[in-house]
This record gives sequence, structure tokens and C-alpha cells, in this order.
Amino acid sequence: MTPPRILSIAGSDSSGGAGIQADIKTITMLGGYAMTAICALTAQDTTGVSMVAASSAAMVAAQIDACVGDIGVDAVKIGMLGSPDIAEVVAERLAGLGVPIVFDPVMIATSGAALADAATIAAFERLMALATLTTPNVPELAALGGDAAMARRGIAYLAKGGDADGAEVIDRLVMPGEAERCWTAPRIATRHTHGTGCTLSSAIATLLGMGLPIDEAVEDAREFVRAALLAAPGFGKGHGPLGHQAVR
Ligand code: PLP
Repeated sequence: MTPPRILSIAGSDSSGGAGIQADIKTITMLGGYAMTAICALTAQDTTGVSMVAASSAAMVAAQIDACVGDIGVDAVKIGMLGSPDIAEVVAERLAGLGVPIVFDPVMIATSGAALADAATIAAFERLMALATLTTPNVPELAALGGDAAMARRGIAYLAKGGDADGAEVIDRLVMPGEAERCWTAPRIATRHTHGTGCTLSSAIATLLGMGLPIDEAVEDAREFVRAALLAAPGFGKGHGPLGHQAVR
């Protein structure tokens, strides 16, 4: 089978657990072909982010153009954007592309470091309107105005429950005009959760690129993340990476 061509538009994580690196591992393990448009470099380990350098908007646009123009793209995942200008140019380039888009509205790293400023978050609006699915965690959904504001704007989203308290994790798929769908699973007790959001969103994008309907893509992607959490190698002194290599 020809692998679906998946473009990750996101930030680089030097420690290999999150961002572009998590996306490439996930897309590859699921049988996709990974391409990247790198929006920002981060220097980080499992305990925190020590330095961030954003790409220029022109550089991000050129990377997207290079992928779209030659190899072609079957689905897109958007992660850390780095600046409001980059968010705008990504929205411009993706409008009219006609492929599934999964937008992980990255704001804060698992270690607690801020990965988007207020102006960048304000620029998320256009991307959420374009996206097939937006995947906020608990604080991100609150920062985006909560369920009522998302519903009012007609945004399709997966509200991830991993950051909520409780022995069970509940993820809710909310599609405009459709009944809400929930997945509940026992919480996996681990501190090695770095890159869970990146892994989930790129897995959904890959599965949508293969032609799966949204609810099936979410279901399979959740299983992939859970298996990778269980296979975490235990690296680092803080929130370590997942075990992408051990899944499937
Ligand atoms: N993107 C980059 C470049 C990151 O470094 C991080 C976290 O450190 C994230 C996204 C979000 O990580 P998570 O998937 O743990 O939410």
C-alpha cells in the first residue's frame, strides 16, 4: 500500500519526546510517510525548555510549499507554531488544500514551559476554523473559551481529559451537529507523558490520511498513545518520552 503522505507543521524538541520528533516516529510507526515544516527550534530535556528560536514565516511557507508542490500531502498535523505571523501564513497555505487537518493548539509544554504567547494564541482562530479537528487539553480548552465558546464557533474538537483529576481519563469528541462521543479508560500511572499530545494528533492525522472516519481515527490513535505510554523507556529526570518504537 502506498503510505499516506503526512505533513507535520510543528516545533522541534531536541530531547526527541515531543514536537516534530514525536510526530515523525508516530507517523512512521503507523505506516505513513512523514514530512515536516519546522516552525521553531527548542532546546529542551525532560525537565524543561532552555531556549526557543522561531523560524521566519517565509521559511515555514517555503517548507509547506516544497512538500505540497512535489510529493503532495494527504493529511496535515499542526503543533507548536512559534509566532502569530507563522500561524497566519500556515492558515493561508492550508486554506483550499482540501485534506484533513488536525490542529493541536499547543500552549504549554508538559514540563510547564510556555510554547505560545498571547498573540499566537489569538491567531489560532483561523486555524481552528480550517481544521477537521482541534485537540485541546484541559487548560487549552479553558484558554480557548471552553465548550460553550467552541460550540458557538462551530469548531470540531477532541477535548482531552489526561490533565483532569481522577482515576479515569475521559476524552470527548465534539462535532458540530452530531451527538458527542466519549472514550473512558483507566488512567495509566506514569510521569513519562512528554509528547502525548503531539503523538495523539499526528496519529489522528495519519489515520485520517489513510481514509478512516474521524471517530475511528480517534479511537485507534488513543490506543496508540496508550500503548506508547505503557512502553515508555523511563528516560530522563523529569517527564520522559513515550515508547513509540515498541508499539505494533
Ligand atoms: N511541541 C513542542 C516543540 C514541544 O516541545 C512540546 C512539549 O514540550 C509540545 C509540542 C507539546 O507537548 P505535549 O505533546 O506533551 O503536549
